[in-house]
Amino acid sequence: MLTVTPVPCYSDNYAYLLSRADCEEVVVVDGCESEPILAAIHGRRLTTILATHHHPDHIGGHEHLLANDPSLRIFGHAEEHAQLRRIPGQTHGLSDGDELQILGERVIALHVPGHTLTAVAYYFPDAGLLFTGDTLFGAGCGRLFEGTPPQMFASLQRLAALPQQTLVYSGHEYLTKNIAFARHIEPQNTAIADRQKRCLDTRARGEPCEPSTIGLERATNPFLRSAEPSVQAAVAGRPPELAVALSAVEVFARLRRWRSSF
Ligand code: ZN
Ligand code: FE
Repeated sequence: MLTVTPVPCYSDNYAYLLSRADCEEVVVVDGCESEPILAAIHGRRLTTILATHHHPDHIGGHEHLLANDPSLRIFGHAEEHAQLRRIPGQTHGLSDGDELQILGERVIALHVPGHTLTAVAYYFPDAGLLFTGDTLFGAGCGRLFEGTPPQMFASLQRLAALPQQTLVYSGHEYLTKNIAFARHIEPQNTAIADRQKRCLDTRARGEPCEPSTIGLERATNPFLRSAEPSVQAAVAGRPPELAVALSAVEVFARLRRWRSSF
């Protein structure tokens, strides 16, 4: 059985340490920052980093971790490896649908452009785990730094179509703010109200709100709900019966802009 341990980095990032009880080898999703990661490893051997994207807060530990062990394997999108070279120390390039074995578990690389054009989510179909980086957050989604709204919308829809019980581990602890925005959009949605209460209790204990599930995101994440009449109405600023029909992509694009100024 794979154990996933969130490793808080910087002010609100998470790296995730993957380990198994019977194994000295450990793997990290996003080598954000070296000190907290090395502290979490407890002398076991870090062999592999799975990088979701190239932003500094997700790759900041690579140089130091590589200096510690030059044989470290670093996976990221194929285009980063072949051309862009924005992921320091990257050794392997992945294309959409590529499969790996990590600690005896099957992993599928999902290319999810939007936040960046080369963002990758890591899906463990048998273990039922999904690592989303800055694409899908608890009750939110990443900013569109490189991609277009239709690209990000399609990426999020693809993640939302994974099995409901899949555990979702995202790259940042943004839930408090995201769930407040979700409530603002859908004040009548009791799943959102319940989630907000649980999240505030969890944060008050100083614990991470990760992971969530695909099912919970579908019920509470406005960015996966842009086809819902209640969300359409909120974006249109009118009650559902008077709301003008907007495409789900257009609703998504407006929600994303709205969230940036919320
Ligand atoms: Zn990012
Ligand atoms: Fe980030």
